[in-house]
Amino acid sequence: MASQVTFIGAGNMASAIIGGMIDSGYPREAITATSPSDDMLAPVREKLGIHTETDNAAAVANADVVVLAVKPQIMHDVCSAMRDAVQARKPLILSVAAGLPAETLESWLGGELAVVRCMPNTPSLVGAGAAGLYANPRVSEAQRRLATELLEAVGLVEWVEEEALLEAVTAVSGSAPAYFFLMFEAMEEAGARLGLPADTARRLAMQTAFGAARMAMASDKPPGELKRNVMSPGGTTERAIEHLEDAGLRDIMQQAMTACAERAREMA
Ligand code: NAP
Repeated sequence: MASQVTFIGAGNMASAIIGGMIDSGYPREAITATSPSDDMLAPVREKLGIHTETDNAAAVANADVVVLAVKPQIMHDVCSAMRDAVQARKPLILSVAAGLPAETLESWLGGELAVVRCMPNTPSLVGAGAAGLYANPRVSEAQRRLATELLEAVGLVEWVEEEALLEAVTAVSGSAPAYFFLMFEAMEEAGARLGLPADTARRLAMQTAFGAARMAMASDKPPGELKRNVMSPGGTTERAIEHLEDAGLRDIMQQAMTACAERAREMA
């Protein structure tokens, strides 16, 4: 029988994961989502066909997994209010909230709990996410497999064995969609200056990023080799890559991602 999964919060991230789970065949009747207002839940119930509940404590009473999917700033109050119900059941706690350490969540919920902390990213909303997961020592192998199954419904899952490494995950994937959006903006502007209609340049740039990612993922060659394969000596690509290297793109990425990881550490 499928594990009972309760989502605390029925917003963007919860809806994305629930949608992915249903698309992957997870039984709707094993999924519950909560929100303080039934107005918010009615469309979720109608669109996704899952159980809904306005009382968080009642919703965790039969849960095997409780997914914490509310904003970090209200997490303390939300956890405190369902502490007794969680302690009575001791489900796996799976948090997608940014910046809240597993130990903090565990203590807000009364202690001695299996907690998985997930750093997802926004492409999860279109089923193409990349998430880093950390498990505290109380998480069993079966619970790890279950967390993997739930998050794989919206993309790639990679486990890290130290919680601090989620800061590196934030730099590599959590915040990284914005790096590519910046690149799209820059390529669109440059393409327009070269005479293309801006929307044509935008579509070409985005499709090229999509194609390059698909090609790299399908290949057993490292990206450096794929790059060299596109660069014929004295050709156009070589000229562009020389410019990017001379302008220090690698150093810029190192500095930006180090700053990102440091900020994640400050916020934890
Ligand atoms: P969201 O769309 O605002 O969803 C949060 C939901 O929680 C809302 O539906 C809200 O309902 C509900 N809520 C508020 N108080 C509640 C309570 N007491 N009990 C149950 N539900 C309650 O936010 P989100 O973007 O999904 O983010 C959720 C979490 O995911 C955050 O912790 C965030 O850090 C993390 N995350 C999100 C993304 C992303 O791409 N969106 C990426 C990485 C991490 P009302 O609207 O009625 O207040």
